[in-house]
Amino acid sequence: MNKPAELKLETVPAWIGGKPVTTAARSGEVFNPATGQVTKKVVFADAGMIDAAVKAAAAAFPEWRDTPPLRRARIMQEFLSLLKKDQKQLAAIVTDEHGKVLADAMGSVQRGIEVVEFACGIPHLLKGEYSENVGTQVDTHTLRQPVGVCAGITPFNFPVMVPLWMFPMAIACGNTFILKPSEKVPSASIRMAELFKEAGLPDGVFNVVHGDKAAVDGLLTHAGVSAISFVGSTPIAKYIYETAARAGKRVQALGGAKNHAVVLPDADLEFAADALIGAAYGSAGERCMAISAVVAVGAAGDPLVRLLEQKAKSIKVGPGTEKDVEMGPLVTCQHRDKVASYIEQGVKEGAKLVVDARKQSVPKDGFFLGTSLFDHVTPQMEIYKNEIFGPVLVVLRVNSLESAIALVNQNPYANGTAIFTESGGAARRFAAEIQVGMVGINVPIPVPVAFYSFGGWKSSLFGDLHVHGTEAVKFYTRTKAITTRWPHQDTPAPGFHMPTLG
Ligand code: NAD
Repeated sequence: MNKPAELKLETVPAWIGGKPVTTAARSGEVFNPATGQVTKKVVFADAGMIDAAVKAAAAAFPEWRDTPPLRRARIMQEFLSLLKKDQKQLAAIVTDEHGKVLADAMGSVQRGIEVVEFACGIPHLLKGEYSENVGTQVDTHTLRQPVGVCAGITPFNFPVMVPLWMFPMAIACGNTFILKPSEKVPSASIRMAELFKEAGLPDGVFNVVHGDKAAVDGLLTHAGVSAISFVGSTPIAKYIYETAARAGKRVQALGGAKNHAVVLPDADLEFAADALIGAAYGSAGERCMAISAVVAVGAAGDPLVRLLEQKAKSIKVGPGTEKDVEMGPLVTCQHRDKVASYIEQGVKEGAKLVVDARKQSVPKDGFFLGTSLFDHVTPQMEIYKNEIFGPVLVVLRVNSLESAIALVNQNPYANGTAIFTESGGAARRFAAEIQVGMVGINVPIPVPVAFYSFGGWKSSLFGDLHVHGTEAVKFYTRTKAITTRWPHQDTPAPGFHMPTLG
């Protein structure tokens, strides 16, 4: 007799103490968004599994902390070369579970790999400071020490890149780590855990647990976890920040976005339109750095909208594995329907629907949606106020650079922004006055390279420190200042008053 189909599904395990763990009370379904089919099951962690992961990470910490940074870096280099060899397979997993087209998936894996390259330089990054003779015969130096067991909670839209923003830097700094990837895209994290083990990472230094709110809450409140890194939507980022900070942990929580591109009349409009199309509809708009609002200044408006219309209509939508496809499906059926509901919403609110996804033919199976473009959108409309996180681009019209800057600065989100212009003066003013964490000048998606840090301002970040680059070293270490005196016969006796050391 044939077994029911669901029993044949592959199970995505957790990874604890260097081994896969497949038994759990709860599990979730993993979909292929291009077919709409359930392809795998993923084990969900309960409190007991979270505790086991924290215990494994805590047990591995003392030895890993005391491993010389140079040896940690050698394991990181080995991990780097295994990731490079596995890049295509990792990208295929991303396309399979997220839906984005393969070339885009390859690029995102590449950007993650670059963080590992940066982490290989950890011996240099951990160097402290030294001052001789801060007082008579007194010297001071600083150490950067790991904080302990760190945890990372990541979103669905970059199953490889966003985890790689976190755990390589944390582990290079001497911490141990528990990753809770999005339950929608769990497999790539397990593949990376296998590769890291193969690279020589001791068991327990890197662990992966899956699940929903229950698993996350287990990490946020567990006394054995010292630091939490989070990337996801703004309401959850705020919740993570408040809950983990209340539990005494250090937290960085990166949230959602509404990224504006300001286009001045002097810009090369053909170049700007091409850049905006890729930035708005690439990865089906499911990027935290996607451009979702265009601010057209003065005479740029009409010709720019004409170009956007023509280009948005010609985007090829289909499975991410197919050659020439430019835009894949959305991640889930629910998300596709939510994004589609904004098309009705925009029409109801009185915006001009220039490109209508509902009139385009897209594959029937899977969670596909075509492209939409709204013109004459106002800041009061819901389609402007909300992060749609899908292939819907809105255009607002303003009369001047000042009004464009004011509009962007009034928005609560402040992840990324861009300006298109041929005026150095206008670009410089924009970069100086805009209240946003990452700014592009004729660059539509200004994601900083791995040796700079990534993060937004305002409702796009709760906490102080951004991810990767040198801010990651600050987040994943504590500084200790050591003041030293080696007394000999001429050393004055310590006094009773506040020491001034001079
Ligand atoms: P999400 O906030 O729904 O989920 C993120 C993570 O939080 C997942 O691991 C999920 O399991 C967990 N989670 C979900 N609900 C929770 C709850 N109630 N309590 C505790 N944990 C919970 O985000 P998503 O839908 O996976 O990803 C899309 C969002 O992520 C967008 O808002 C996007 O802008 C944002 N994002 C931001 C950045 C950035 O760098 N700022 C990068 C990528 C994605």
